[in-house]
Amino acid sequence: MSSGIDPINDALGRPLRALRISVTDRCNLRCAYCMPEDEYTWLPRAEILTFEEIAALTDIFLALGVDKLRLTGGEPLLRHDLAQLVGLLATRPAIRDLALTTNGVLLAEHAQPLAVAGLQRITVSLDTLRPDRFEQLSRRPDLPGVLAGIQAARAAALAVKINTVVMRGVNDDELADLLDWSRSLNAEIRFIEYMDVGGATRWSPDSVVPKDEILARLSGRFGKIEPLPTRDRAPAERFALPDGTTFGIIASTTEPFCGDCDRSRLTADGRWYTCLYSLVGLDLKSSLRSGVSPSQLQSAILNAWRTRTDRGAEDRLAQRERGPFVPLTALRRDVHLEMHTRGG
Ligand code: SAM
Ligand code: SF4
Ligand code: SF4
Repeated sequence: MSSGIDPINDALGRPLRALRISVTDRCNLRCAYCMPEDEYTWLPRAEILTFEEIAALTDIFLALGVDKLRLTGGEPLLRHDLAQLVGLLATRPAIRDLALTTNGVLLAEHAQPLAVAGLQRITVSLDTLRPDRFEQLSRRPDLPGVLAGIQAARAAALAVKINTVVMRGVNDDELADLLDWSRSLNAEIRFIEYMDVGGATRWSPDSVVPKDEILARLSGRFGKIEPLPTRDRAPAERFALPDGTTFGIIASTTEPFCGDCDRSRLTADGRWYTCLYSLVGLDLKSSLRSGVSPSQLQSAILNAWRTRTDRGAEDRLAQRERGPFVPLTALRRDVHLEMHTRGG
């Protein structure tokens, strides 16, 4: 099902369907694969889009055929009154899928208000079930809060998925336990290959556990794993255990899926990026605040999408020598290059 509006296609025939909206660049965790540094510079508060501005920009994207929205961050639950934004967006009939990605730390108090406001689905990022490891990985002792948040989301009847970034030597011995646990919750888990995105300043090829190795580890515990049919532009490939339990693998690093990519990203200060790896974005906030009309903004977005040729993860894979994508000095100069600014 789609919104009924013919989507606009980019130069490689990929439609514009999904928008990830970062509502803040701030975060209450410091995950080793995303924010490993000791200090960060934040977007100035005056630059952060208001809810009304987010809704106005969203309407422009909806008019262009976008029908899937995901709120993200930084940590989106740090944004005051997020349920109010969800309520605003949920009234748009063109949205057929409204979801949120969170680290879950503050979810226990927010799950119910978010569900009442109209949120449909939630993805909680969780990389370990061991408290000491959680603290080592995220530099905060917050595992109990995340687990309580997941329970609260289920109690609020939100559909829950779990995202786990797999890092060699960090949590790759825990994959079967995580799958067992998510099965007991009836929540689908997706294992994500560690990516060399901006901000992942400690990334190295050796720290990536490729999809095939993830599958081998899981079949060692669970037996034969069957691939499930193709995936409607979703980033995860899905699989089933012998008992029917399903899970996903997002092999963005070793088997990128750019050919199917219908996603773009809006930062909390209104820059629009057509690829996770784009170095420049379109400054929609300045245009909006200087009185550029919605139809002019629509044309600017349309033109940018029609000429889009991004294949960031595939380009990275083609590199022979690979280290972190963006050096620390460049991240310090432009925080928009950070994954936690761009929204994942
Ligand atoms: N703070 C929220 C969270 O962690 O769910 C939302 C923002 S976070 C940037 C969105 C997603 O990006 C998370 O699922 C996180 O695991 C993922 N992510 C961050 N850095 C990554 C990396 N280097 N490789 C793969 N996934 C990454
Ligand atoms: Fe971790 Fe998400 Fe925060 Fe990045 S933005 S440090 S992935 S919780
Ligand atoms: Fe899409 Fe860019 Fe990610 Fe490829 S790297 S899937 S083009 S966002």
